[in-house]
Amino acid sequence: MNCLFCDIATKKIPAEIVYESELILAFKDIAPKAPSHLLIIPKKHMDNVLDFTPNDGTLLTALMMAIKCIAEKESLSAGFRIVTNTGKDGGQTVKHIHFHLLGGRPLKWPPG
Ligand code: 5GP
Ligand code: ZN
Repeated sequence: MNCLFCDIATKKIPAEIVYESELILAFKDIAPKAPSHLLIIPKKHMDNVLDFTPNDGTLLTALMMAIKCIAEKESLSAGFRIVTNTGKDGGQTVKHIHFHLLGGRPLKWPPG
C-alpha cells in the first residue's frame, strides 16, 4: 500500500521530526497554518478514527500524552487546537490518521 505518512514513519521520506516514541511520530506540517503546526501520527497505519478498536487503548493514551508533551515543548500554554479531519466531508487529504496540533496565534472558531 502506498501511504505518505507510513513512508514518513519508516523514514523513507524525510520530515522535520519533533517527537518520536515506539508507537508515535510527530513532525512539522509541510504547509503550516499557524506558527506551530505539527502532525501527530501512530506509526502503524490506520485510515482514520473509525479504525480504532477497544484494543487501541495503549495507542490512544500514547497519542494524547504525545500531544501534551509536544504542546509543552512548543510552549503553547496560552492555548492550541487539535484537529483530526476525517473522511471526504471532513477534509482529510492524507489517508493515514493524523492529529493536527495548531498554536502560536489566536485561532478562530468555528472552522469552515
Ligand atoms: P489533512 O488535509 O489530511 O487533514 O492534512 C494533511 C496535512 O499533511 C496537510 O496539512 C498537509 O500540509 C500535510 N502534508 C502533506 N504532504 C506532506 C509531506 O510530504 N510532509 C509533511 N510534513 N506534511 C505534509
Ligand atoms: Zn499509512
